[in-house]
Amino acid sequence: MRERLRARFGLPDFHPWQREAIDSLLTGKKRVLVVAPTGGGKSLTYQFPATELEGTTIVVSPLIALMEDQVRGLSERGIRATWLSSTVDPTERRRREADLAAGAYELVYIAPERLAQGHVLDMLARLAPPMVAIDEAHCISHWGHDFRPDYLHLARVLERLAPKHVLACTATATPIVRDEIVSQLGFAADEMEVVLRGFARPNLHLTAREIDGARERKRAMVSAVKTALGAPTEPAGAAIVYTATRKVTEQMADLLTAEGYRSAAYHAGLDPTVRGQVNADFAAGQLDVVCATNAFGMGIDRPDIRAVVHVQAPGSIEAYYQEVGRAGRDGQPALGLLLRSTADFGLRRRLIERKWTDEQPDENHVKQQWGLFLDLMRYVEAGSCRHDFILSYFGDEQETLGGCGHCDVCVRLEELGEDGVRSVNDDDALVVRKALSGVARNRMTAGLNRVVEMLHGADNEKLRSMGLTSLSTYGLLEDRDKDWVMILMRRLLTAGLVEITTDEYPKPYLTQLGVRVMKGDEPVRVLLPDEDAGKKAKGKSSRSGRARTPVEMPANVDPELFERLRGTRMELAKEKGVPPYVVCHDRTLLEIAATKPQPLDQMAEVHGMGPARIDAWGDRLLSVIAEG
Ligand code: ADP
Ligand code: ZN
Repeated sequence: MRERLRARFGLPDFHPWQREAIDSLLTGKKRVLVVAPTGGGKSLTYQFPATELEGTTIVVSPLIALMEDQVRGLSERGIRATWLSSTVDPTERRRREADLAAGAYELVYIAPERLAQGHVLDMLARLAPPMVAIDEAHCISHWGHDFRPDYLHLARVLERLAPKHVLACTATATPIVRDEIVSQLGFAADEMEVVLRGFARPNLHLTAREIDGARERKRAMVSAVKTALGAPTEPAGAAIVYTATRKVTEQMADLLTAEGYRSAAYHAGLDPTVRGQVNADFAAGQLDVVCATNAFGMGIDRPDIRAVVHVQAPGSIEAYYQEVGRAGRDGQPALGLLLRSTADFGLRRRLIERKWTDEQPDENHVKQQWGLFLDLMRYVEAGSCRHDFILSYFGDEQETLGGCGHCDVCVRLEELGEDGVRSVNDDDALVVRKALSGVARNRMTAGLNRVVEMLHGADNEKLRSMGLTSLSTYGLLEDRDKDWVMILMRRLLTAGLVEITTDEYPKPYLTQLGVRVMKGDEPVRVLLPDEDAGKKAKGKSSRSGRARTPVEMPANVDPELFERLRGTRMELAKEKGVPPYVVCHDRTLLEIAATKPQPLDQMAEVHGMGPARIDAWGDRLLSVIAEG
């Protein structure tokens, strides 16, 4: 297959996940959903199989410009492809259709609205296509950002054409959209293989902070921009400041202008010519900072964005990931700071409900949007690695790092841990283990609230009647506030140590990782909530307000080598069945990527590479350096 990839597509090799998707498409489940970021290389996962399979593959694509582009690219490589859309003039269209019927093409791209026409479908059915590929598959989802009614015909189209192979692809990673794609295409959840990859952005220093009002917000924002860009006389790239409202964009832009940065506000209420100018100036490097609502962003591809600061929380993890993902496209370190204040909850609620001005809000939709926002709030509150949180939210488990080493949580753990072990101190670890043992003792009888009450040592009839007061773990955390124990429990959930049953009465239980952490076989990598967290008392200063400087990425690090080292670490981790951080930490890989140690003994000087690690992994890591 690699030979033919070279010969026909001029590419040296598949990305491992492309190979996985193609294998599954050709010989596995034969129905595959590929989820990867834009530019990740999704098209190859259907284009290559199309050239392998006998017959004409049908590709459904919503954008005519995109179809033309792809067909041109394929034709240049001598791969026979064409497209059919309403923009092709009738004579030419008839010619293409005749060629198609004669089997002249390996791929035909077609707009979804044409599939709704009976004669088009008849014609395609006569081709008996071996495969149907659906590009931008999130268009089928009502929850997606780009719903297209024409995509709803696709289940019927698939039924009629009955292709042996079906591939759908999208860059939208939200679990709910993913599930809807599978079901709208007419498949059961286990009939479609999901290959989801490429969402890790290890060069982003992710930080999230709770702030106390507008003054702190301004201070934190200005300080982040200054840290990321340096002095306004010689800014090291650009920054974007995202807000939830138009008014705040103006405020923030004024602040930064006063600091000397070339800044502008951007929102949908501005005149289109003004917006166009801001876009153009930012792209041309005439502006250092744009303060914007989410209206700004389409088509931003400045590679040198050093910081994306959210002064108000956006609507979901997906929205956040997309916006923060505009930072550091050049692979160099960049900052992603998310500021959250209590006021954001009310604000978001209003924004969600404002969609319906003169009709009753759709209750389901509000509930769903609100749920997505609460997921993002969990991200802010999480006590475990930010990267891993996002990756496991998207289901990109393959790329989770077991701690990235440079988000605010990892940095904090690094400070707390001893000897370069990223973990909390022994006292805190004991608290976590107590909480875990409480979950274990409960043996899936009581729900989360009761388990929290039991650990806290509450005294009520319900606990007694359920026998929870006589457990050995009763009152283990009696010196803590009940709300505090609940926050801790939520952190254990987001860190993947505790899971909840999905039946009518959800009950917590330990995951395998949770069991290992409880037994002390695995370090505790979850930060405890602040002592005053959960206390209702207002005006208490929060300890989390303290600014933390992220670990610096070595300046001379080779990002491409770093990526390859991470890939190899993942392979090694899989081979040995251990989490990636056991192989070595990100910091170690960064240092290797910067210093490129050659003989093995030079590797001993790299931070974190003790003799045991050199023994176990040294050769493999060296060979990665040698390849480059
Ligand atoms: P997507 O559809 O995911 O947005 P594309 O399929 O358009 O991304 O691919 C983006 C770019 O990546 C293209 O220029 C493509 O040639 C390149 N690419 C895809 N797969 C590989 C590969 N295995 N090796 C090198 N380049 C690749
Ligand atoms: Zn981290």
